[in-house]
Amino acid sequence: MLSVKTPEEVLEIINKEFDFSMQPEEVSIFEASGRVLAEPVISEENVPTFNRSTVDGYALAASDTFGCSDSIPALMNVKGQVLMGEDGADIRLGIGECAYVPTGGAIPEGADAVVMIEYVEDYKDGTVGIQKPIAPGGNIIFKGDDVFPGKEVLPKGRLLNSADIGALAALGILKVTVSPRPLVGIISTGDELVDIDETPKDGQIRDVNSAMLSAFIQEAGGSARMYGIVQDDEAILRAALEKALDECDMVLISGGSSVGTKDATCRIIEEKGEILLHGIAMKPGKPTILGKADGKPVFGLPGHPVAAFFVSRLFVSAMLRKMLGQTSALRTVSAQISEAVSANHGRAQYMGVTLSEKEGRTIASPVHTKSGLITSLAGTDGFFCIDRDCEGLSAGSEIQIITF
Ligand code: AMP
Ligand code: MG
Repeated sequence: MLSVKTPEEVLEIINKEFDFSMQPEEVSIFEASGRVLAEPVISEENVPTFNRSTVDGYALAASDTFGCSDSIPALMNVKGQVLMGEDGADIRLGIGECAYVPTGGAIPEGADAVVMIEYVEDYKDGTVGIQKPIAPGGNIIFKGDDVFPGKEVLPKGRLLNSADIGALAALGILKVTVSPRPLVGIISTGDELVDIDETPKDGQIRDVNSAMLSAFIQEAGGSARMYGIVQDDEAILRAALEKALDECDMVLISGGSSVGTKDATCRIIEEKGEILLHGIAMKPGKPTILGKADGKPVFGLPGHPVAAFFVSRLFVSAMLRKMLGQTSALRTVSAQISEAVSANHGRAQYMGVTLSEKEGRTIASPVHTKSGLITSLAGTDGFFCIDRDCEGLSAGSEIQIITF
């Protein structure tokens, strides 16, 4: 008997039934993009480390500019020029004095604002005329404005991107503590499967899932270990699962997950541990198994590559996120669907889309995978779900796309 769960129930099971505690590791920031922080990053420094100008202009006391205008400029003596990379400490400004400061330059003592060069007339005799008043603090970013010691710069669970790495570099942080990459064992089962480098005879097909799932695991932050093609033979499959369970943090078996007599996956997972679910109310992807053996997740994925693809995108990825402690949100965009799609079978239905821009709007064109072949999903940009209680969508409806 299949104990069928809704997609929401599956996510709950993943959340409740598994508890992972993997030893974090330290990596260089040059290798940290795409990794997940196992600890928050707390700054020990100020950013910026000194008061800096955000414009090219003249540093001065803002009070010297009050009441000035185009017609009555404030006359100021130019005391000097701050050079890039220097601290400007040799310049001290008094009343009626200013100094030229380039963008990013240090603010000399006595100044509390910088007037943009556009509002300054240079009389070429060591004096300038300020034509627009400025408030104290104007055009200055003060020491510690952006980051200060003790401030959390990046939270635990963050999937690091290049902007994050740039922030770490600015703070002088060379190493970060990240979650280890979970090792995921991948097994393909089916008497009809042949290796990718073989030419299938009639009745045979190439093993698509090993390569596809391996790519997906790597995209999702894990490492994949391949256990090859296994015949529809209980003893051989059992041996492969035992080896994979021994060596890996999670195991994916694709094929043989429905209830046919030759479909041994469920029996074998049950022997090693327990079955948490058998069947998900989704299309494609119904014959999916999730079990637990030695505390490790074992997925029995549908052999159908398109189904295996959606199940891994939705649920294997949720498991990996949990293993990694990843909290960053999934990437979604809203788009208008280009055509009507029907759905009335009481199961959540997933469809791939290609995205395009038209008159400033994002248009999602659904890909019809009538053939159910993975080649129809090649080139798609994301997918969306039609809820099980929705009868279909009319053209132009707003939908949420999960992007790849
Ligand atoms: P199964 O889940 O074993 O009943 O397989 C369902 C369909 O998926 C069958 O048409 C299989 O030939 C196909 N299939 C199973 N495993 C793979 C695989 N690794 N690569 C490509 N197709 C597969
Ligand atoms: Mg099979």
